[in-house]
Amino acid sequence: MKPSERLSRIPPYLFAELERKIAAKKAQGVDVISLGIGDPDRPTPALIVEAMQEAVTEAETHRYPSNRGRADFRQALSDFYERRFDVDIDAETEVMPAIGAKEAIFNLNLAFLDPGDVALASDPGYPVYTAGPLRAGGEPVVMPLVPELGFIPDLDAISEETARRAKLMYLSYPNNPTGAVVPEGFFARVVAFAKAYDILVVHDNAYSETTYDGYRAPSFLATPGSKEVGIEVFSLSKGYNMTGWRCAAVLGNAQAIETYWRLKTNIDSGLFEAVQLAGVAALSPDGDAEVASMNELYRRRRNLVCEALAKIGVHIPPPKGTIYVWAPIPAGFESSVAYCEHVLEQAAVVISPGSAYGPSGEGWFRISLTTPDDRLAEAVERLAAANL
Ligand SMILES: *Cc1c(COP(=O)(O)O)cnc(C)c1O
Repeated sequence: MKPSERLSRIPPYLFAELERKIAAKKAQGVDVISLGIGDPDRPTPALIVEAMQEAVTEAETHRYPSNRGRADFRQALSDFYERRFDVDIDAETEVMPAIGAKEAIFNLNLAFLDPGDVALASDPGYPVYTAGPLRAGGEPVVMPLVPELGFIPDLDAISEETARRAKLMYLSYPNNPTGAVVPEGFFARVVAFAKAYDILVVHDNAYSETTYDGYRAPSFLATPGSKEVGIEVFSLSKGYNMTGWRCAAVLGNAQAIETYWRLKTNIDSGLFEAVQLAGVAALSPDGDAEVASMNELYRRRRNLVCEALAKIGVHIPPPKGTIYVWAPIPAGFESSVAYCEHVLEQAAVVISPGSAYGPSGEGWFRISLTTPDDRLAEAVERLAAANL
């Protein structure tokens, strides 16, 4: 059986060799600690679980949901955007539930790209920003994020020809994997650029609720003019410890949402209504305290990791958001993968090679903060002891 050409165009999986080595270590009985994947270790807050328990006993939730979503979930998203971001969202036309942000981002490519169309993708970035356009027959063009520019793309470096061919632009702040937050004024420049070249901006808002040190992340949709050119994909996965629930939404430009809906009716049958009702509970003001207590936990873990890295000579500013610490590999290693393999060998700790997130991630590594405190403490001790 031969896979399709489109599937074959996806680059080979960078972690393959690393994963083989992790499996071999575990098979030898070595106590491997993984700081690789970003998946909250704490359970979903009781307030949300209880709302789900109640909803699931209601027979009305058991049938096919509508693809537009329940009116009360759309209203809850609209109220949340007003309360949290000061953004006005029409609950009828400017919001639609999605079965996770990953699904939404992938499918948007099928809705907006024709063969040969360009999708501009932050690099390093969430891998779906490049794999999605490829699978849709489009052409991803990466926009490097470098520390000198605060990990934002240099819009002036995008050629006129590429900008004219571009139909989509993927951005995400607070940013995975770099942990960067958006500098003042950048979103306004993106809006102007998108207007000039008729590009739909897709802002992946997976981490707005996960921030530290008093920083409050804005929505892209709070930028004047943004709704004319953009949509935002909001996910409850990371902020509310709901990765397994598949609960997200697309908000913003009504025409883009209508197009997404047309596509969606051909692909999936909507988000389980009980999950939508759990989402209503999460987004209520009662959810805020849960988010705040998670952030306090991550803040402590972030400090632990940054202090341990400083001890081994890696000095980085502590990130103001996301569940990741992004740092340059020490001198003397030829690549991110080589360094991560070395750390696995010497300390039995798994960290992610930056190159897995795109070519500009080469020379960096990512540590996820979603490991229980005692294991994380042990992992950083091992790193420090082995002087890695
Ligand atoms: C985790 C993550 C997602 C996926 O969110 P889901 O709603 O669970 O699919 C999307 N974008 C980024 C940047 C992420 O880190």
